[in-house]
This record gives sequence, C-alpha cells and structure tokens, in this order.
Amino acid sequence: MTEIKTAKDQVTIEDVLELAGQYIKNPDSIQMIKNAYEYVMVKHAGQKRRSGEPYTIHLIWVAYILATLQTGPVTITAGLLHDVMEDCEVPHDEMVERFGEEITSLVEGVTKISKMPFKDRSDFYAENHRKIYIAMAKDIRVILIKLADRLHNMRTLKYMPPEKQKRIATETLEVYSPIAHRLGINDIRIELEDLSLMYTEPQAYQDIAALLERKRAERKAAVDKMMEEIRHLLEQSHMPFRILGRAKHIYSIYKKMVIKGKRFDELYDLNALRIITQTKLQCYEILGIIHDHYRPLPGRFKDYIAMPKPNMYQSLHTAVIGVDGLIFEIQIRTEEMDQIAERGVAAHWRYKENKGYSSRNEQKEIGEKLQWLRDFISLSDDIQNTDAKEYYNAINRDIFEANVYVLSPKGKIIELPNGATPIDFAYRIHTEVGHHMTGAFVNNIMVPIDTRLKTGDLVEIKTSNNSPGPSEDWLKIVRTAGARNKIRQFLAKKEEENKKIQIDEGRKLLRDEIRRRHDLDEKVYLEAKTYDSVVASFGANNFDDLLYLIGRKNITAAAVLEKVIPNKKSFFDNLNKIMQKNNDAIERQRKSSSSGVAVQGIRGMRIQLSKCCNPIPGDEIVGFVSQGQGIKVHRKDCPNVQSDEAKKRLIEVYWDWPSLQSKHYEVDLQIRGYDRPNLLTDVITVLGSMKINILKIHGDATDGKAKIDLKISVENAGQLDQAKANLLKVQGLYEIDRLIH
Ligand code: MN
Repeated sequence: MTEIKTAKDQVTIEDVLELAGQYIKNPDSIQMIKNAYEYVMVKHAGQKRRSGEPYTIHLIWVAYILATLQTGPVTITAGLLHDVMEDCEVPHDEMVERFGEEITSLVEGVTKISKMPFKDRSDFYAENHRKIYIAMAKDIRVILIKLADRLHNMRTLKYMPPEKQKRIATETLEVYSPIAHRLGINDIRIELEDLSLMYTEPQAYQDIAALLERKRAERKAAVDKMMEEIRHLLEQSHMPFRILGRAKHIYSIYKKMVIKGKRFDELYDLNALRIITQTKLQCYEILGIIHDHYRPLPGRFKDYIAMPKPNMYQSLHTAVIGVDGLIFEIQIRTEEMDQIAERGVAAHWRYKENKGYSSRNEQKEIGEKLQWLRDFISLSDDIQNTDAKEYYNAINRDIFEANVYVLSPKGKIIELPNGATPIDFAYRIHTEVGHHMTGAFVNNIMVPIDTRLKTGDLVEIKTSNNSPGPSEDWLKIVRTAGARNKIRQFLAKKEEENKKIQIDEGRKLLRDEIRRRHDLDEKVYLEAKTYDSVVASFGANNFDDLLYLIGRKNITAAAVLEKVIPNKKSFFDNLNKIMQKNNDAIERQRKSSSSGVAVQGIRGMRIQLSKCCNPIPGDEIVGFVSQGQGIKVHRKDCPNVQSDEAKKRLIEVYWDWPSLQSKHYEVDLQIRGYDRPNLLTDVITVLGSMKINILKIHGDATDGKAKIDLKISVENAGQLDQAKANLLKVQGLYEIDRLIH
C-alpha cells in the first residue's frame, strides 16, 4: 500500500495512476486516464493557477482525491477534464468524440455548477443550492468531482483575495460539507470543515489549534498507555483487531464549544480510540471485553451497527473511564464499516465502472443503501421547476434538515422533518401507500392522521383499495413537500377526470338543446369556433370550459345557444338594437303582460311566474295552463312540470324582452365551499362589484365545509350566469345551486 498523499505533498499523474492502479485492473481504463491527462496538458497549456503553479496541478489533484475515494476510471477521467470545456472552450461534440457521452455529461454537470455567477442577491444561495442539488440528483458522481474540486480549491484558498476567501469558505460550510456528510465521505468533510473555519472564524481556529497543541503531548502519553492496555486485553481473546488513536478535528470542537457552549476542558472525548476488527459479532465481543474491564459512562453507548445512521455509518460507540481516570471515547467497527465511515457512498462502487455500467442503475443501487438519496432524487425530480427558494426550502426541510427518525414495520428507518405526520410517512414509503391510506398506527395504537411523529415511533399505515384518496384537507396537514406535491398531483388528476365527465355531459346537453330546436345545424353548433366570440362572456376560456359550465349546470345550453344563434346574438348586450329591429314583428305577435312573458296567439289570459322555480328572463320556460288560474310560467327543468300529466297542459311561451327593461327578479342560491376566514366577505364583494343586490345572506359552517344561503335580485339569466361564474372563482367555493322550492 502506498501512503496517501496529503495537502502538504506534491502529486504527479504517476501518483494518480499508481493509486488508481491498485484497484483498477483494466489496462484500457488506465489508458483512458492517461489520454485525458495528455489532452488537458495540451488544452490548459500556459494557464496558471493563482498560486502561480501550472493549472494542470489542480486537475491532477482532483483526479488524485477521486482515486483516494476509489472512484472508477470514468469519474477520475472526468475529474481530469472537469475544467476543460469551460476554461478551454472545448465544444460538446469534440468531447463526445474523444471521451464519449458519459464522461462528457459528467464534465458538463460539473461545469454547470461552476458557471454560476456570483451575485450578491438574497436568492443567490437558493439558486446556487438548487443547481448543485439538481446536478447531484441526476448523477451523484458529479458531486464527487465537485467535492474533490472544492477540496483542492480550499487547500489553495490562501491565494485568493480575502473577500473571496470568506465567501467560498462560507459556501463550503453551508453546501459542500453537509453534502459530504450526507454522503458519508468523512475524510473530505472533515478537511473541508477545518479549512473553512480557518477563513470564516480565523481567531477561533487559531485558539483551538493552540489549545490542542498544548495538550497534545500529555494526551498522547495517555492514549498510548490506554492503547497498550487494550491491546494486551484483546490479544488474549485471539480475535483479529487493530487499534488506533484518532484526533478530533478542530471544527467539531468549535461546534461543541459554540453550539453546545462547552468549555474546552469539558470535551472529554478528546481522548479517542478506534478498534477495527473483522466481523460484526467480534465488534460486540470486543465491546463486552472493554465494558467488563473499564467502567462505561452511562448514556454514552450507541449501537450504530444495529441502527445505522442514514448515511450508512455503522459502528459501536462507547465511553469508558480508562487509564489515569481519564475518559476515553471508543469506536468499534469492522474493516468494511471503517471504509464506509471514511469514504461513504464512494466505498460502494469501486470496480463498478469497469463492468457494463449505467449511471442510473448505480444511482438506484446507492439509493437502496441511502434512503435519503432516493427521497432526495424523487423530490428533486418532482419540484425542480419550482421557484429556487421554494425548491431550496423544500429540499432542506424534507431531506437535509430531516431530524425525526421513525421506523417502518419492516424496520426501515425513515427520516422526516419536524412536525411530519403519518401522511408524510406514507408518501415516503410509496406514492400509492399515501393515495390509499385510510388510517395510521403509531406504536401499535391507532392515531389521527395529523399526529406529529417523534423519533423512535414505529409507524404502520392502513391502506384500502376503496379509499377515496387524499383530500384537500391533507394539504394543510402534511409537512413534507414530497407529500404535498403528490397530493396536489392526485387532486389535479381527479379534477381533470371530473372535468372530462362534465365536458361530455355539457356536450350532450348542448346537443339535446340543438336537436330540440329542429332548425339548427348540429354540426355547426357543436363546433368550437362557433362559440369563439362568446366564451369569455360566460367566464370561460374556451369551448371545453363552456361545455364544462353547461355540464355542471352553471349555465344552460339554451343560454349559450341564444348568444350564438344569428339575430339573437348579443341579445342581452344589445337589447335596444334588437328591440328596434324586431319591434314591429314582435309587436304583431305578442300579447305582453306584466309578467314579462308572452304567449303566441293567446290574449287576455292571466300569466304568472311560478313561485316554485322563480324563472327569470333568459331561463328556458314553459307555460302550464292551470284550471281557472291562467298560465303559470315554470322553468323548463322545474320538477313540478315533468310528469306526463303536467306535460299535456304545457304550452310554448317566451320572454317579452321589450317589457322587461330594468325589472328585477329574486333568485335563491345555495353555495357550497371549504370554510375559511373572509369567505362570506368575498362572496359579498363579488356580488357588490357586479352591482347585484343581496336580499338575504346566511352562512353556516360544519367540519370545515361552508354553506351559504343567498337571495339576490337579478335582471336576467345572463347576469345570473355571470354572477355564478364569478362566484366560482372565489377561492374555496365549488358548487352553486339555484334552489327550487
Ligand atoms: Mn476546478
């Protein structure tokens, strides 16, 4: 094994090839790395880093860091090439031709992240994060290259101007080190954090470094003594093991001092040891030996083997009182766990790239290990087109700041943000589980679906194929953007389906109406463009919308037809003009009455509007000849005139428009909607803006549903239709019925 080179050393391409050669055995893969090296030597020739060194030093370091993570040859090659498209303006096609699609897309992914211009705007961070997250969700190798790039840039940050140093270091702490942590790449995270602290809090960094240095000698003596004792103990057990002392890094001490407010002296885990063995069982055996010999500190034992951390980290942690009465923090783990603890996600795919390999499969494979990554990718896919801040907030809250850990019945650990509910949990398990959820058990007790989950809760979701699916109310309950998004999609789809049914119904009603009128050409009147000029007057955007309104019975097919049948077009709007035109003919035919309704060929009959359905001008009407009481005018769809008996007594009547000017009619409406503050006020405002008089209004709310009974006065059906259309635009309202008594 060659010694891994650190920031203080120099590296050459030979070092990269030697390190990579230890685990990449395919000569073609090694050749590919060499080719990329020769290519960048030519392309970046003459370019210099701020340090004055040739630019290619940076590229070799990035490749070297990737090789220490044991990433595959494709990633290392892309690491060498990561700045070539941007800095040397190599076009896409040339890259593809020389290095293939896969490497090109990795380089482009990295370039996209670097290209972001720095602006001092509040949403800069959000935008910045979003691009990084989206790139990462597409191919996680992009972020590994970016981490290697950032690590070398941090190591050489001293050559940058001071204001840039602060900004880059802050960004590293806010974005890159959390990602490294999430991916379990501890080596890089630790170095990034210490380097960042050096620039963001130089004084604190120096102070802690000085304190550590002062204690180093005495600590080393104690640790050496303790290691010797343990070694002696374990040798008697004949288990394989190695034991090493480990230094706490400066940033973690800084965090404990600043965040937890501890004094340096209190940080007892400064004495830290790690024991590495072969099998899981041996880990527990070693723990047993340690606890048998040293007194463990209560509350300090953590079993991350049985309960791995979300970033796959596994280990046993304990703290004991050891030599000289000092406290020692001890970690016990297998070699494999140790690899994962240091290189995280990267430890999982060595050699993979040598096989026939697709990045998507690899994403999936890692996703199986890293639940959060899978959640992250699917959430990112769902919301990547939203506003940068919304995206950033959602990803951070749902994924990166998730800190409630609950268990599924199968023992899977699910991470959720604070305040998450069983609904959030259900959608994390699977979209279909969410859609079919009917109830939830937490720790085997049935709970309301808006219960807030706590760490350690065992959550079981009850589902049923007959469940009606999520409702609008769920949107108020859920905490994760993932669940919210899935519910919205479901509701939108349901609404879409409902709408289709209503549109078909509207088309049928319109066709019936056309057929009833005999003289209309069905083809013309079922064509969208016939209605182009009138859709807007019904508050619709297009013909389908119009059919939808007819289907929902918000407007009548007759009212719509009235507007487009020649001569009657714009009847309501241009009443005077029409009057003028048809005056004579109408005069001759009709016998008007105070009811505003005329009957052809009949004179002297009393005509009254019926009280049951209160017809208003523009409604389709029929006359019912009642015994001795003249003619009662009903709406055509009034249930009181539907019987066969009644139908025998019906005669045709029509509205006598000229006599109707400025008459008003009372209409009873019932409105339904979801209750919310100011709902009633909004209804009144809409009507007020249309100058419609409200004669009576009464609101009731139960279980979040509002019911509003309303009596208004209108001039005609056109105005009523318009009023209904406007009311349906009020947020939360979904149904308006005109009442028949
Ligand atoms: Mn770079």
